[in-house]
Amino acid sequence: MFSQQLWEKSGHWAKYNENMFNLKCDDQNYSLKPMNCPSHCLMFANRSRSYRELPIRFADFGVLHRNELAGALTGLTRVRKFQQDDAHIFCTQEMIESEINNCLMFMNHVYGIFGFEFTLELSTRPENHLGEASQWDMAENQLRDALNKFGKPWKLNPGDGAFYGPKIDIHITDVLKRSHQCATIQLDFQLPIRFELEYMGSGPEERHRPVIIHRAILGSVERMMAILIEHTGGKWPFWLSPRQVLVATVSEKYIEYGQQVAASLTDAGFFCEVDVSDKTLPKKIREAQLAQYNYILVVGEEETTNKTVNVRTRDNAVRGSISVQALIDELKQVSKEFK
Ligand SMILES: [Zn+2]
Repeated sequence: MFSQQLWEKSGHWAKYNENMFNLKCDDQNYSLKPMNCPSHCLMFANRSRSYRELPIRFADFGVLHRNELAGALTGLTRVRKFQQDDAHIFCTQEMIESEINNCLMFMNHVYGIFGFEFTLELSTRPENHLGEASQWDMAENQLRDALNKFGKPWKLNPGDGAFYGPKIDIHITDVLKRSHQCATIQLDFQLPIRFELEYMGSGPEERHRPVIIHRAILGSVERMMAILIEHTGGKWPFWLSPRQVLVATVSEKYIEYGQQVAASLTDAGFFCEVDVSDKTLPKKIREAQLAQYNYILVVGEEETTNKTVNVRTRDNAVRGSISVQALIDELKQVSKEFK
Protein backbone atom coordinates (compact mmCIF):
# COMPACT_ATOMS: atom_id res chain seq x y z
CA MET A 1 0.00 0.00 0.00
CA PHE A 2 1.41 3.36 -0.98
CA SER A 3 0.26 6.94 -0.56
CA GLN A 4 -1.37 9.04 -3.26
CA GLN A 5 1.86 11.05 -3.69
CA LEU A 6 3.68 8.03 -5.04
CA TRP A 7 0.94 7.28 -7.56
CA GLU A 8 0.86 10.92 -8.64
CA LYS A 9 4.58 10.76 -9.28
CA SER A 10 4.35 7.50 -11.25
CA GLY A 11 1.37 8.76 -13.27
CA HIS A 12 -0.97 6.01 -12.05
CA TRP A 13 -3.19 8.43 -10.11
CA ALA A 14 -4.11 10.27 -13.30
CA LYS A 15 -4.10 7.36 -15.75
CA TYR A 16 -4.89 4.19 -13.82
CA ASN A 17 -6.83 5.19 -10.72
CA GLU A 18 -10.08 3.46 -11.59
CA ASN A 19 -8.19 0.14 -11.69
CA MET A 20 -6.72 0.58 -8.21
CA PHE A 21 -8.16 -0.28 -4.80
CA ASN A 22 -8.13 3.02 -2.94
CA LEU A 23 -8.60 3.62 0.77
CA LYS A 24 -8.44 6.48 3.19
CA CYS A 25 -6.45 6.55 6.44
CA ASP A 26 -6.07 9.66 8.61
CA ASP A 27 -7.18 11.96 5.78
CA GLN A 28 -4.58 10.45 3.46
CA ASN A 29 -5.38 8.51 0.31
CA TYR A 30 -3.63 5.22 -0.21
CA SER A 31 -3.80 2.58 -2.96
CA LEU A 32 -2.88 -1.08 -3.09
CA LYS A 33 -0.11 -1.47 -5.65
CA PRO A 34 -1.29 -2.69 -9.07
CA MET A 35 2.33 -3.09 -10.21
CA ASN A 36 5.79 -3.04 -8.63
CA CYS A 37 7.64 -0.49 -10.76
CA PRO A 38 7.00 2.66 -8.65
CA SER A 39 8.11 0.99 -5.42
CA HIS A 40 11.24 -0.34 -7.11
CA CYS A 41 12.03 3.21 -8.19
CA LEU A 42 11.82 4.22 -4.51
CA MET A 43 14.27 1.44 -3.67
CA PHE A 44 16.68 2.60 -6.36
CA ALA A 45 16.43 6.22 -5.16
CA ASN A 46 16.87 5.25 -1.52
CA ARG A 47 20.54 6.27 -1.63
CA SER A 48 22.97 7.62 -4.17
CA ARG A 49 24.03 5.12 -6.83
CA SER A 50 27.28 4.72 -8.71
CA TYR A 51 27.79 3.45 -12.25
CA ARG A 52 29.84 0.69 -10.63
CA GLU A 53 26.66 -0.76 -9.06
CA LEU A 54 24.82 -1.12 -12.35
CA PRO A 55 22.99 -3.10 -13.48
CA ILE A 56 20.78 -3.28 -10.36
CA ARG A 57 18.11 -5.94 -10.71
CA PHE A 58 15.15 -6.03 -8.31
CA ALA A 59 12.96 -9.14 -8.46
CA ASP A 60 9.60 -9.17 -6.68
CA PHE A 61 6.86 -11.77 -6.32
CA GLY A 62 4.80 -9.37 -4.16
CA VAL A 63 1.00 -9.46 -4.27
CA LEU A 64 -0.65 -7.05 -6.70
CA HIS A 65 -4.26 -5.83 -6.77
CA ARG A 66 -6.18 -4.53 -9.76
CA ASN A 67 -9.79 -3.53 -9.53
CA GLU A 68 -10.95 -5.27 -12.70
CA LEU A 69 -14.61 -5.01 -13.72
CA ALA A 70 -16.64 -7.91 -12.29
CA GLY A 71 -17.63 -8.96 -15.81
CA ALA A 72 -13.99 -9.18 -16.89
CA LEU A 73 -13.01 -11.72 -14.20
CA THR A 74 -12.49 -15.30 -15.39
CA GLY A 75 -11.18 -18.32 -13.47
CA LEU A 76 -7.46 -17.91 -12.85
CA THR A 77 -6.77 -15.98 -16.04
CA ARG A 78 -8.14 -12.60 -14.93
CA VAL A 79 -8.28 -12.02 -11.19
CA ARG A 80 -8.17 -9.04 -8.84
CA LYS A 81 -5.33 -10.27 -6.64
CA PHE A 82 -2.31 -11.94 -8.18
CA GLN A 83 1.46 -12.16 -8.31
CA GLN A 84 3.99 -11.74 -11.09
CA ASP A 85 7.55 -12.96 -11.39
CA ASP A 86 8.32 -9.32 -11.81
CA ALA A 87 11.68 -7.62 -12.09
CA HIS A 88 13.02 -4.17 -12.86
CA ILE A 89 16.51 -3.79 -14.15
CA PHE A 90 18.16 -0.41 -13.73
CA CYS A 91 21.04 -0.08 -16.17
CA THR A 92 23.02 2.31 -18.34
CA GLN A 93 22.04 2.90 -21.98
CA GLU A 94 25.11 0.94 -23.02
CA MET A 95 23.99 -2.11 -21.03
CA ILE A 96 20.62 -2.50 -22.78
CA GLU A 97 21.79 -5.08 -25.30
CA SER A 98 23.46 -7.41 -22.80
CA GLU A 99 20.60 -7.11 -20.29
CA ILE A 100 18.00 -7.84 -22.97
CA ASN A 101 20.08 -10.79 -24.09
CA ASN A 102 20.09 -12.10 -20.49
CA CYS A 103 16.30 -11.74 -20.35
CA LEU A 104 15.89 -13.66 -23.63
CA MET A 105 18.13 -16.48 -22.45
CA PHE A 106 16.36 -16.66 -19.09
CA MET A 107 13.01 -16.85 -20.90
CA ASN A 108 14.32 -19.52 -23.24
CA HIS A 109 15.44 -21.58 -20.24
CA VAL A 110 12.13 -21.27 -18.36
CA TYR A 111 9.88 -21.88 -21.37
CA GLY A 112 12.10 -24.79 -22.42
CA ILE A 113 11.35 -26.48 -19.08
CA PHE A 114 7.61 -26.23 -19.75
CA GLY A 115 7.93 -27.18 -23.42
CA PHE A 116 6.47 -23.93 -24.76
CA GLU A 117 7.33 -22.67 -28.24
CA PHE A 118 7.42 -18.89 -28.58
CA THR A 119 7.51 -16.12 -31.16
CA LEU A 120 9.28 -12.77 -30.83
CA GLU A 121 8.34 -9.33 -32.12
CA LEU A 122 10.12 -6.03 -31.75
CA SER A 123 7.77 -3.08 -31.29
CA THR A 124 9.34 0.26 -32.11
CA ARG A 125 8.48 3.87 -31.36
CA PRO A 126 4.90 5.02 -31.87
CA GLU A 127 3.76 8.42 -33.17
CA ASN A 128 3.02 9.71 -29.68
CA HIS A 129 6.35 8.67 -28.15
CA LEU A 130 8.04 10.74 -25.45
CA GLY A 131 11.78 11.37 -25.35
CA GLU A 132 14.57 12.03 -27.80
CA ALA A 133 14.60 10.26 -31.17
CA SER A 134 18.33 9.57 -30.77
CA GLN A 135 17.70 7.72 -27.50
CA TRP A 136 15.01 5.62 -29.18
CA ASP A 137 17.31 4.85 -32.13
CA MET A 138 20.09 3.71 -29.86
CA ALA A 139 17.77 1.52 -27.75
CA GLU A 140 16.00 -0.01 -30.76
CA ASN A 141 19.33 -0.86 -32.35
CA GLN A 142 20.45 -2.62 -29.19
CA LEU A 143 17.18 -4.57 -29.04
CA ARG A 144 17.71 -5.60 -32.68
CA ASP A 145 21.27 -6.70 -31.94
CA ALA A 146 20.16 -8.65 -28.87
CA LEU A 147 17.46 -10.41 -30.90
CA ASN A 148 19.89 -11.24 -33.70
CA LYS A 149 22.44 -12.53 -31.23
CA PHE A 150 19.77 -14.66 -29.57
CA GLY A 151 19.41 -16.38 -32.92
CA LYS A 152 15.69 -17.17 -33.13
CA PRO A 153 13.53 -15.61 -35.86
CA TRP A 154 11.74 -12.38 -34.92
CA LYS A 155 9.37 -9.93 -36.57
CA LEU A 156 9.27 -6.17 -36.60
CA ASN A 157 6.15 -4.32 -35.39
CA PRO A 158 6.88 -0.75 -36.47
CA GLY A 159 5.17 1.90 -34.32
CA ASP A 160 3.70 -0.59 -31.84
CA GLY A 161 5.94 0.25 -28.85
CA ALA A 162 4.64 1.97 -25.73
CA PHE A 163 4.95 5.76 -25.63
CA TYR A 164 7.66 5.39 -22.94
CA GLY A 165 9.93 2.86 -24.66
CA PRO A 166 10.34 0.05 -27.21
CA LYS A 167 9.56 -3.56 -26.21
CA ILE A 168 9.87 -7.16 -27.23
CA ASP A 169 6.52 -8.95 -27.47
CA ILE A 170 6.62 -12.64 -26.72
CA HIS A 171 3.83 -15.09 -27.48
CA ILE A 172 3.94 -18.68 -26.29
CA THR A 173 2.08 -21.49 -28.00
CA ASP A 174 0.61 -24.23 -25.84
CA VAL A 175 -0.04 -27.85 -26.75
CA LEU A 176 -3.48 -26.88 -28.13
CA LYS A 177 -1.72 -24.39 -30.48
CA ARG A 178 -3.27 -21.44 -28.70
CA SER A 179 -1.23 -18.28 -28.34
CA HIS A 180 -0.72 -16.50 -24.99
CA GLN A 181 1.22 -13.41 -24.07
CA CYS A 182 2.92 -13.95 -20.70
CA ALA A 183 6.45 -12.59 -20.72
CA THR A 184 7.26 -8.87 -20.78
CA ILE A 185 10.52 -7.27 -21.87
CA GLN A 186 9.85 -3.55 -21.95
CA LEU A 187 12.23 -0.60 -21.93
CA ASP A 188 11.23 2.51 -20.04
CA PHE A 189 12.85 5.93 -20.45
CA GLN A 190 10.05 7.89 -18.74
CA LEU A 191 9.76 6.37 -15.28
CA PRO A 192 13.38 7.27 -14.43
CA ILE A 193 12.56 10.87 -15.41
CA ARG A 194 9.37 10.97 -13.32
CA PHE A 195 11.25 9.65 -10.29
CA GLU A 196 14.34 11.76 -11.03
CA LEU A 197 16.53 8.66 -10.84
CA GLU A 198 20.23 9.10 -11.41
CA TYR A 199 23.57 7.49 -10.86
CA MET A 200 27.04 8.96 -10.55
CA GLY A 201 29.32 8.50 -13.56
CA SER A 202 33.10 8.05 -13.50
CA GLY A 203 33.86 11.78 -13.63
CA PRO A 204 33.39 14.26 -10.77
CA GLU A 205 29.80 15.52 -10.41
CA GLU A 206 28.86 13.52 -13.48
CA ARG A 207 25.24 12.36 -13.26
CA HIS A 208 23.28 10.11 -15.60
CA ARG A 209 19.74 8.85 -15.95
CA PRO A 210 19.39 5.04 -15.81
CA VAL A 211 17.10 3.07 -18.12
CA ILE A 212 14.54 0.70 -16.62
CA ILE A 213 13.72 -2.68 -18.12
CA HIS A 214 10.42 -4.17 -16.96
CA ARG A 215 10.88 -7.93 -17.09
CA ALA A 216 8.49 -10.81 -16.33
CA ILE A 217 8.83 -14.36 -17.63
CA LEU A 218 5.78 -16.23 -16.33
CA GLY A 219 3.81 -12.98 -16.11
CA SER A 220 0.87 -13.48 -13.75
CA VAL A 221 1.62 -16.69 -11.84
CA GLU A 222 -2.12 -17.40 -11.56
CA ARG A 223 -2.62 -17.02 -15.28
CA MET A 224 0.42 -19.18 -16.04
CA MET A 225 -1.06 -21.82 -13.73
CA ALA A 226 -4.27 -21.83 -15.81
CA ILE A 227 -2.26 -22.15 -19.04
CA LEU A 228 -0.17 -24.98 -17.58
CA ILE A 229 -3.23 -26.88 -16.36
CA GLU A 230 -4.60 -26.85 -19.89
CA HIS A 231 -1.18 -27.43 -21.46
CA THR A 232 -0.59 -30.58 -19.39
CA GLY A 233 -4.23 -31.69 -19.39
CA GLY A 234 -3.96 -31.92 -15.59
CA LYS A 235 -1.09 -34.44 -15.90
CA TRP A 236 1.55 -32.41 -14.11
CA PRO A 237 5.17 -33.39 -14.66
CA PHE A 238 6.53 -35.04 -11.52
CA TRP A 239 8.74 -32.13 -10.42
CA LEU A 240 5.79 -29.74 -10.51
CA SER A 241 3.02 -32.09 -9.42
CA PRO A 242 0.92 -31.18 -6.37
CA ARG A 243 0.09 -34.93 -6.04
CA GLN A 244 3.29 -36.85 -6.54
CA VAL A 245 2.76 -40.12 -4.69
CA LEU A 246 -0.15 -41.98 -3.08
CA VAL A 247 0.24 -45.04 -0.87
CA ALA A 248 -2.70 -47.44 -1.23
CA THR A 249 -2.86 -50.06 1.51
CA VAL A 250 -4.34 -53.48 0.75
CA SER A 251 -6.19 -53.40 4.07
CA GLU A 252 -6.29 -51.69 7.45
CA LYS A 253 -3.55 -54.00 8.69
CA TYR A 254 -0.92 -52.26 6.57
CA ILE A 255 -1.70 -48.64 7.37
CA GLU A 256 1.18 -48.36 9.81
CA TYR A 257 3.72 -49.57 7.25
CA GLY A 258 2.10 -47.33 4.62
CA GLN A 259 2.60 -44.34 6.91
CA GLN A 260 6.26 -45.27 7.42
CA VAL A 261 6.74 -45.32 3.65
CA ALA A 262 5.03 -41.94 3.34
CA ALA A 263 7.24 -40.49 6.11
CA SER A 264 10.40 -41.69 4.31
CA LEU A 265 9.25 -40.07 1.05
CA THR A 266 8.24 -36.85 2.81
CA ASP A 267 11.65 -36.71 4.52
CA ALA A 268 13.26 -37.09 1.10
CA GLY A 269 11.34 -33.97 -0.03
CA PHE A 270 8.44 -35.51 -1.93
CA PHE A 271 4.70 -34.99 -1.55
CA CYS A 272 3.15 -38.27 -0.42
CA GLU A 273 -0.23 -39.19 1.06
CA VAL A 274 -1.71 -42.44 2.35
CA ASP A 275 -5.23 -43.55 1.47
CA VAL A 276 -6.42 -44.87 4.86
CA SER A 277 -10.05 -45.30 3.80
CA ASP A 278 -11.98 -48.58 3.79
CA LYS A 279 -12.32 -48.55 -0.02
CA THR A 280 -11.28 -51.65 -1.94
CA LEU A 281 -7.75 -51.65 -3.38
CA PRO A 282 -8.92 -51.42 -7.03
CA LYS A 283 -11.07 -48.43 -6.10
CA LYS A 284 -8.18 -46.70 -4.30
CA ILE A 285 -5.95 -47.22 -7.34
CA ARG A 286 -8.60 -46.04 -9.78
CA GLU A 287 -9.31 -42.87 -7.80
CA ALA A 288 -5.61 -42.11 -7.42
CA GLN A 289 -5.17 -42.45 -11.19
CA LEU A 290 -8.09 -40.12 -11.86
CA ALA A 291 -6.60 -37.61 -9.41
CA GLN A 292 -3.37 -37.86 -11.49
CA TYR A 293 -0.99 -38.95 -8.75
CA ASN A 294 2.22 -39.64 -10.66
CA TYR A 295 3.03 -42.72 -8.58
CA ILE A 296 0.76 -45.14 -6.71
CA LEU A 297 2.39 -47.46 -4.19
CA VAL A 298 0.51 -50.58 -3.17
CA VAL A 299 1.51 -52.05 0.20
CA GLY A 300 0.30 -55.36 1.65
CA GLU A 301 1.71 -58.39 3.43
CA GLU A 302 4.65 -59.05 1.12
CA GLU A 303 5.72 -55.39 0.97
CA THR A 304 5.46 -54.96 4.74
CA THR A 305 7.63 -58.03 5.34
CA ASN A 306 10.25 -57.14 2.71
CA LYS A 307 10.17 -53.35 3.30
CA THR A 308 9.27 -52.72 -0.34
CA VAL A 309 6.50 -50.98 -2.32
CA ASN A 310 4.62 -52.17 -5.39
CA VAL A 311 4.82 -49.35 -7.92
CA ARG A 312 2.19 -48.26 -10.45
CA THR A 313 1.89 -45.08 -12.46
CA ARG A 314 -1.15 -42.95 -13.25
CA ASP A 315 -1.12 -44.46 -16.76
CA ASN A 316 -1.53 -47.89 -15.19
CA ALA A 317 1.95 -49.21 -15.90
CA VAL A 318 2.59 -51.86 -13.24
CA ARG A 319 6.24 -51.76 -12.26
CA GLY A 320 6.40 -54.39 -9.51
CA SER A 321 8.14 -54.34 -6.13
CA ILE A 322 11.17 -52.25 -5.30
CA SER A 323 12.73 -51.12 -2.04
CA VAL A 324 11.73 -47.74 -0.62
CA GLN A 325 15.31 -46.50 -0.98
CA ALA A 326 15.45 -47.54 -4.65
CA LEU A 327 12.20 -45.63 -5.24
CA ILE A 328 13.55 -42.53 -3.52
CA ASP A 329 16.68 -42.69 -5.70
CA GLU A 330 14.49 -42.97 -8.80
CA LEU A 331 12.25 -40.05 -7.77
CA LYS A 332 15.29 -37.86 -7.16
CA GLN A 333 16.42 -38.64 -10.68
CA VAL A 334 12.95 -38.05 -12.19
CA SER A 335 12.61 -34.67 -10.43
CA LYS A 336 15.69 -33.46 -12.27
CA GLU A 337 14.26 -34.35 -15.66
CA PHE A 338 11.65 -31.56 -15.79
CA LYS A 339 9.17 -33.57 -17.80
ZN1 LIG B 1 7.13 -2.73 -14.31
